[in-house]
Amino acid sequence: MDAPAPVPPAASPFDSDHPPDPKLIDECVHCGFCLANCPSYRVIGKEMDSPRGRIYLMDGLNEGQIPLSEATVSHFDSCLGCLACVTTCPSGVKYDRLIAATRPQIERHYPRRAGDRLFRALIFNLLPYPNRLRPLLVPLLAYQKSGLRRLVRRTKLLDKFSPQLASMEAILPDIPADALRSSLPAHLAAQGKQRYRVGMITGCVQRLFFDRVNQATARVLSANGCEVIIPAEQGCCAALPEHQGQRSQAQTMARALIDSFEKTGVDYIVVNAAGCGHTLKEYGHILADDPQYRERAKAFAAKVRDVQEFLEAVGLTAILQPLADVPLPVVYQDACHLLHGQRISLQPRRLLQRIPGLQLREPVDAALCCGSAGVYNLLQPEVAEELGRQKVANLLATGARLIASPNPGCTLQINKYLQLQGQSISVWHPMELLDFAIRGVRLPLPASTGDT
Ligand code: SF4
Ligand code: SF4
Repeated sequence: MDAPAPVPPAASPFDSDHPPDPKLIDECVHCGFCLANCPSYRVIGKEMDSPRGRIYLMDGLNEGQIPLSEATVSHFDSCLGCLACVTTCPSGVKYDRLIAATRPQIERHYPRRAGDRLFRALIFNLLPYPNRLRPLLVPLLAYQKSGLRRLVRRTKLLDKFSPQLASMEAILPDIPADALRSSLPAHLAAQGKQRYRVGMITGCVQRLFFDRVNQATARVLSANGCEVIIPAEQGCCAALPEHQGQRSQAQTMARALIDSFEKTGVDYIVVNAAGCGHTLKEYGHILADDPQYRERAKAFAAKVRDVQEFLEAVGLTAILQPLADVPLPVVYQDACHLLHGQRISLQPRRLLQRIPGLQLREPVDAALCCGSAGVYNLLQPEVAEELGRQKVANLLATGARLIASPNPGCTLQINKYLQLQGQSISVWHPMELLDFAIRGVRLPLPASTGDT
């Protein structure tokens, strides 16, 4: 358990429930090396929207020298939580811990405007609950199929009413028919000799909009000698509320997920969404103050593996076939919560390179966030838009004919800006590409998109 941080002075707007730790703040030597890799600083261009600026603000808030005003809060809201600064910082400043401590304080002590409160309540009461979201898919499907969507987008009706709702609408993928019902089995036997028994996390958004990724992940694991256990009662991993400072909602979800997996007797708990994996590995920290769950959370987190991390470590046993009759250039898009949050970058690339004929391309600014960042693209649409445009331009400039993306949020964001640019290149999860390669599926390809 972390040592309790000192109690802030009375003038501080923060309470004594884990404010940002002054010891961690003091580790920042203000060198500014992190600024160039911070996406919010690169788009907004202000010191207070950089890691260094935000650390100054945390210190001022802790000391009671800065009020928790709308302006102050806006600089924290503009942080994508991408953790690029953690990777870059030569002094090892734990900005991830600092921002994770700051956000719950803001949510507890800053009264947001009514519209913002309402929109956030909608997000936090809907998106992490597949059982609440699923009934809404029928009217959403009708909205998409009836032509109403075309009308709303052409007239920019929602933009006039609420830019945030318009962002939500724009990111919504075509509703797949299988989203209306859950189709994953609770158990999948290992093919060939069983090597491991693994539990699989299905996610909330992933489960509804990317069931095909979950299906592919389960098949790839099974084809590589894993018995796969998928508890039907599992809920959200808590990433969404945790990243936005909704600590008590996150703790409730974390406890429930631990309960769902505790009696399964699995060797590992495997996850195919980058943001979820990062939060699952943090459970020991999230539940550090809960005497009933503290040790169980640590034991749970110790078993968590990103699926690519897991497969690269245990090795593929299934035979892979080419995805096309010609050499296939593919660009892998790093998800921040894999690259910066879990330091996983080589494993997905190595797995993809095992597919015969696949040529991996590297984009400019691979480590820069695409602007998705959980629900950031809904809450901060302007910064997210600039980052989404830049990311798609960099991916296309590689000349790749497919994009591999290991996170549902990144996939939605990239697809949005591909569509806006009229591009037909498709985005697949690396597990889908491996699944195709195992099953011998050949992919239809668009023409090359850039210089090859
Ligand atoms: S966070 Fe690290 S890189 Fe950024 S200013 Fe502080 S010490 Fe320098
Ligand atoms: S988490 Fe990302 S957006 Fe936030 S300060 Fe660090 S680099 Fe900048």
